[in-house]
Amino acid sequence: MNLEDKQLKELFSLANKIGNKRYHKLTYQDFENYRKFDYWRYINGDYECGTTQESKDWVTENSDGYCPICEQHYSVKGGKSIDHKLPRSQYPWLSIDFQNLWVICRDCNQEKSDMNWYEYEHYIFVNYPNWYPAVKMARPKLLLNSLK
Ligand SMILES: [Zn+2]
Repeated sequence: MNLEDKQLKELFSLANKIGNKRYHKLTYQDFENYRKFDYWRYINGDYECGTTQESKDWVTENSDGYCPICEQHYSVKGGKSIDHKLPRSQYPWLSIDFQNLWVICRDCNQEKSDMNWYEYEHYIFVNYPNWYPAVKMARPKLLLNSLK
C-alpha cells in the first residue's frame, strides 16, 4: 500500500466520524428541506434529470455531453443523473448544497452508490486508474474542509 492509499483511508475515517456526529444534530426543518430538495432532483426519464424546469436548467448549465468520470457520452451510459459527491445517506444536510452536486452518467452513479467520497476515490484509484485524475480534480474540497 502506498502513501496515497493510506491518506485516503485516514481522511475517509475522519469524514465518516464527523458525518455520524452531525447526523444527530439535524432538525425537523433540515428534513423538510431535504424532502423538498429530493423532489427537485428526482430523476425522470433516461435523458432528463429532475421533474422541474429548474432542475433541468441546472443540469444543462452544469454538464456537457460527456460524463466527467468515464468520459463517455451520456447517451451510451444510461443518461444523466444528479449525484451527491458526499452521499445523502451520510451527509443529509449537504443534500441541498449545490457545491455537493455534479452531473454524471447513470452507470457511474450506480457504481458510486453510497460510497463516501474518499472511499470512492480509493475505489477508482484501485479499479480505474485512468479515471482517477478526473475524480481527484472533482473532489469537493470546501465541503470536506467544512467537516473538520
Ligand atoms: Zn460515467
